[in-house]
Amino acid sequence: MELISIVIPCYNEEKSVPIFYKEVQEQVNNDFKDIDVEFEYIFVNDGSKDNTLEIIKLLEENDKKVKHISFSRNFGKEAAMYAGLEMAKGDFVAIMDADLQDPPKLLITMYNELKNGNYDCIATRRKNRKGEPIIRSFFARCFYKIINKLSDIEMVDGARDFRLMTKQMAKSILDVKEYNRYLKGIYGFVGYNTKWISYENIERKTGTSTWSFWKLMKYALEGITAFTTTPLIISSIMGMIFCLIAFIFIIVIIIKTLIYGDPTSGWPSMICVIFLVSGVQLFSMGIIGQYLAKTYLEVKNRPLYIIKEKTED
Ligand code: UDP
Ligand code: MG
Repeated sequence: MELISIVIPCYNEEKSVPIFYKEVQEQVNNDFKDIDVEFEYIFVNDGSKDNTLEIIKLLEENDKKVKHISFSRNFGKEAAMYAGLEMAKGDFVAIMDADLQDPPKLLITMYNELKNGNYDCIATRRKNRKGEPIIRSFFARCFYKIINKLSDIEMVDGARDFRLMTKQMAKSILDVKEYNRYLKGIYGFVGYNTKWISYENIERKTGTSTWSFWKLMKYALEGITAFTTTPLIISSIMGMIFCLIAFIFIIVIIIKTLIYGDPTSGWPSMICVIFLVSGVQLFSMGIIGQYLAKTYLEVKNRPLYIIKEKTED
């Protein structure tokens, strides 16, 4: 019999977890009734401040298929997904959000595709960003344009974390052990054959999204610095261009002074140049600083997450 593991990162999802469990159970029992598979649900409690953990444990008491991992504090969705993948024993592994934004009815389609097609992973993307604030979708679009220009690894706009993949691919993802994780890029990095299916965006069932605009901005920067060093090249090139301009300026000024002498004019242009050049310098230093900061974090080699308790085998 085959086993399908479903990893569910949960942060303050006390309302969503029971609904999620019920809906997925119903859907799966119905869709997979003629197929010889079993499921396991791995709920990762990412340091929730509400009763998420208690609710997961209640489910666990009544259903052996439910397992849990609980972090000592909030480590973020990336860490939660990693911990869940690590615990998953399934021949196929899926990642789903607790808020039912990932329709469980797709699981059977994904499973059939994986079994019959020549794929290692069936991934989902949203057809549109309906129901999302306009500014947020605008920035999201810009982000995907920029990152796909800069990085060799393709990142699909609207890609969700919702996927079903083979054990082998999940193992490869676990082999990427970097601290600054950006899973959408890591999927691209590990390769394998991926088939995309798209669906209409579904709004969250209960609660609110925990991703503030600021958190998303930071996540986007994470994505860029984790998967491309092109910004470093851009800043070097800019530096070179401005050096060249400055050099030409210096020659022109020297020649001008030699021929016409130096009245105290030239202040405005000088101030302009100082501003411009120091601006470029600060910009470049900022970019370098970003990479340095990431290197610093990687070198420290801290654990991705700390488990306070979990379901024992
Ligand atoms: N999540 C998490 N840790 C966090 C933030 C979110 O485990 O620090 C989980 C959350 O419980 C949910 C999933 O990640 O199951 C997606 O989060 P959310 O719905 O807030 O994001 P959105 O759908 O708006 O991208
Ligand atoms: Mg959501």
